[in-house]
Amino acid sequence: MYTGNSEMKVNLFGKTYNEIREIAEELMLPRYAADQICNWLYNKNALTIDEMSNLPKKARSMLGNKYEILRIKPLEVKISADGTKKYLFRTTHSRYIETAYIPEIKRHTLCISSQVGCKRGCSFCMTGKQGYQGDLSPMEILSQFTGIQERNSISNIVFMGMGEPLDNLDELMKSLEIFTFPYGYGMSPSRITVSTIGIIPAMKDFIEKSRCNLAVSLHSPFNEERKKLMPVEVTYPVKEVIDVLKSYDYGKQRRLSFEYIMFRGVNDTPKHVNEISRLLSGLKCRINLIRFHPVPATSLEPSDEETIIRFRNSLTSKGIITTIRASRGLDIQAACGLLSTRRLNMEKSITSLN
Ligand code: SF4
Repeated sequence: MYTGNSEMKVNLFGKTYNEIREIAEELMLPRYAADQICNWLYNKNALTIDEMSNLPKKARSMLGNKYEILRIKPLEVKISADGTKKYLFRTTHSRYIETAYIPEIKRHTLCISSQVGCKRGCSFCMTGKQGYQGDLSPMEILSQFTGIQERNSISNIVFMGMGEPLDNLDELMKSLEIFTFPYGYGMSPSRITVSTIGIIPAMKDFIEKSRCNLAVSLHSPFNEERKKLMPVEVTYPVKEVIDVLKSYDYGKQRRLSFEYIMFRGVNDTPKHVNEISRLLSGLKCRINLIRFHPVPATSLEPSDEETIIRFRNSLTSKGIITTIRASRGLDIQAACGLLSTRRLNMEKSITSLN
């Protein structure tokens, strides 16, 4: 849903400082106008150019002739008994994306989508089953933050919603710049985590250009087994991904973690613990174990609680900091991709009735 009217004008929301500066130069506005415009867009949350009251009237009018401020808004929100909220947004191309707000005692996390659907086809993932439908623009990424009621309480952002963020690297990097730079939302990069399945070239770019945390989806340390879970293993084997990760010094600020969804009888044995420990040896990192919440059209099942705890303890005893992620929002289809898939199916059935 747009909040503006014209499709002919260019959207200012989601532009970086340099892009705004170029616009100001093109309109022959004074140098400081770029700072003022950014301040209105990202600090004062302006919804129209007319609100930019410290810009001269003529400047506002020139700006308004070519530009406007557009955002997407949530279409639906589901609230879990545990306080988790799942927002469904409609993108500018009338597709659906999901954003999750996860309140905890010490932090309030926003889980953001970076693409509509995903082309990577991981066998356990509902978003993957939707297929790839497009990349999100910085406007659509940032709107997931500005468009929710809890915006002012967000302490952490994770790019773990729909899509593989590093398959949309340029737009991701612009969004991260706006999230973290003082002209934007001024968040500390240490409060933002980008998750990837390990797209090596983009991952190198990300590590070199961003100071945000990185979470890599591991899910199995064995090549043949990981291929069945994650087709990306064919192109970028996990061993190569980890070799690349070991070649960087992350400094004190950046945190590197591995995500590990636990599937009963597939990746939850002592053999896996030993291989993970061998693979990650020498790498400063932590592992997050994730309970699997079954999705349609897969035979994968969740590991039982006892196995998960044993797995955690075994990794910990090998010197790897390992935590078990709490399951949140189970009553509101919190597994990524379920809500938007339901919406898509609803639309398809309406179309076929027509
Ligand atoms: Fe894409 Fe991530 Fe789902 Fe894999 S797990 S299909 S990369 S969204």
